[in-house]
Amino acid sequence: MSTYTSRGAKKSNTPAVLAILGASLLIAIVVSVLRPALAGPGPRPLFQLPVACGEVWQLGTYPGHDDFDVDMFPTEGEAWGRPVYASFGGEVIESGINGSLGGRTPDRPDGPLGRGGGYWVKIDHGGDWTTQYLHMLEPPMVAVGDEVTQGQQLGKVGSTGRSGAPHLHYEQRRDGDKVETWFDGVPSGITHDDAEYTVTHTSDNCPKL
Ligand SMILES: [Zn+2]
Repeated sequence: MSTYTSRGAKKSNTPAVLAILGASLLIAIVVSVLRPALAGPGPRPLFQLPVACGEVWQLGTYPGHDDFDVDMFPTEGEAWGRPVYASFGGEVIESGINGSLGGRTPDRPDGPLGRGGGYWVKIDHGGDWTTQYLHMLEPPMVAVGDEVTQGQQLGKVGSTGRSGAPHLHYEQRRDGDKVETWFDGVPSGITHDDAEYTVTHTSDNCPKL
């Protein structure tokens, strides 16, 4: 009788142990899946202006553009063909044509207007931070999947897509949403498109020694 009793006890315990193990496994899986989402975006990368070290550029927005979108024009020299650099290292996740190119070139600056961003690049910097670079003159110099370093050239300033004049349209996004652009750890001051306004900044996108 005692053998029967102990065997009976074992039978009733085994499903309970399995249930506890199963529940623990389920909790572990749910936590591992949710943790990255619950953690939220990482700290802001130390972005630099996406243009050559030492150059002074005008940054601005205007009504109908968007609060945090930045249009950049050099304060000296031609905009056409100026190098566009990664403002921080990361992985290229978009590279190609956004919308349509149109026909605005240095030889025909008032050629047909395109749609959207024209030649563009988007970089994933990790921690849910991305940057994007629009209206470039020629096909980007980087491809989707490329790892780029801060200061690596992505392309040249142009006027492809929906662009009134040659310039670089630049955005910083956190968790997919546009945020105020910061450069070298300092907020740019471009925060609303209620009225047209501009600021000037000097690029510190310089080779790191
Ligand atoms: Zn723009």
